[in-house]
Amino acid sequence: MIAARRLSLAVLPTPLVPARRLGEHLGVEVWVKRDDLIGFAFGGTKTRAVDVVIGDAVARGHDELIGCGGPASNLCATLAAAAARADIPCTLVLFGSSPGPSHPNLSAMERWGARVIFTGVPDRASTEPCAGLIAAERASCGRHPFVVPRGAAIPLGVLSYASAADELDEQLTTAGIDPDCIVLPVGSGATIAGLLIGVSSWSRPTRLTGAVVSRPLADTAMTVETLATSAARCGRRPRPDLGRLELVDAIGPGFGVPTPDLRDAVALALRTEGIVVDITYGARALAVVGDLARRATGPIVLWHTGGWLDAVADLGLGRDHP
Ligand SMILES: *Cc1c(COP(=O)(O)O)cnc(C)c1O
Repeated sequence: MIAARRLSLAVLPTPLVPARRLGEHLGVEVWVKRDDLIGFAFGGTKTRAVDVVIGDAVARGHDELIGCGGPASNLCATLAAAAARADIPCTLVLFGSSPGPSHPNLSAMERWGARVIFTGVPDRASTEPCAGLIAAERASCGRHPFVVPRGAAIPLGVLSYASAADELDEQLTTAGIDPDCIVLPVGSGATIAGLLIGVSSWSRPTRLTGAVVSRPLADTAMTVETLATSAARCGRRPRPDLGRLELVDAIGPGFGVPTPDLRDAVALALRTEGIVVDITYGARALAVVGDLARRATGPIVLWHTGGWLDAVADLGLGRDHP
């Protein structure tokens, strides 16, 4: 594997902070890994993958970016901003059809200068073949496009999250904390797959608990295992320890659909710690922290993956109030 060349978008390490009031409320010691403060374009944890994947692509001579996702994709929004920084054109291929300009992530993609194309069918998997066709067309014009699949679920992207686990391990040592588990939201599975690679070589027995927000548990488990195993091999890291992984169903009534419990989780984070979490990802992970509190044998680390664009739109900030 080629040594990763970063664009240096992410400001690392992101803070690890105690969440005393939140912990008192839930009845367990809670720490928060603030990847929401990663320092670039509201990208959250995704910025880690974009940083190395696009840095490496640019270093290998690619001069255009084609990203895949949905209209609510934080990855695509971050790709648009990264392409602006790298000074290369960006096309984003989104599944479905345009939900209208009011969607915060979609308008961010456009405001950051990307060309947005819809596949016209709701199937998420329709994006990569369409991106492949566009890439072939661009190549025939003498360009060197680079295609980023949904979730940046390629070995270099996954390995950026293994480095994130290495980063947290050092912070835990400095702070003198031995967490029982790390909780984070799971979509494509790339983030947790990478974290699993990193955590597998920790000397502390910390487990990883994923709140699965978009797909059936069995599918997600298989994807995480495949991604972790293949990325570990590429990165010459030890075989991931699947015994440390636990996935819980956090889909509820559907991807991104709010419920009273999730609204309560958003309010709890705001009113105890002043922390902003979104309904799609952060609130679901926080709800799982609440469920785990009773059986936790040590502190819980909530990995705050970002989601600010959705969260801020949800809070109604920036709108005109009568
Ligand atoms: C993408 C995303 C996730 C899920 O990450 P995957 O690697 O797709 O599992 C979680 N939280 C936020 C804010 C995200 O943008």
